Amino acid sequence: MKYTDVDNSRPPATAVWVKEEYLFEPDRFKCSNCGEWTLQPSQECPVCGARMTGIRKDPVWIDEIVFIEENGVWRDPQDGR
Ligand SMILES: [Zn+2]
Repeated sequence: MKYTDVDNSRPPATAVWVKEEYLFEPDRFKCSNCGEWTLQPSQECPVCGARMTGIRKDPVWIDEIVFIEENGVWRDPQDGR
């Protein structure tokens, strides 16, 4: 994980963790401010320093089920992302 300096002279941005829920992978959390991924949500984003105000669910598994029903197979989730 990479770290960047946080400018403390300005109030930190606020953001939320977008919790992406998968069928075949562990849930993971994306910073809505900088887009960095983490598996362990914290009070502040370790990358951009945004103060986290909450968690928003993004049930990716619904799209995955639709994909399976339409295609009959599951793809490598790393493909095309
Ligand atoms: Zn961030």
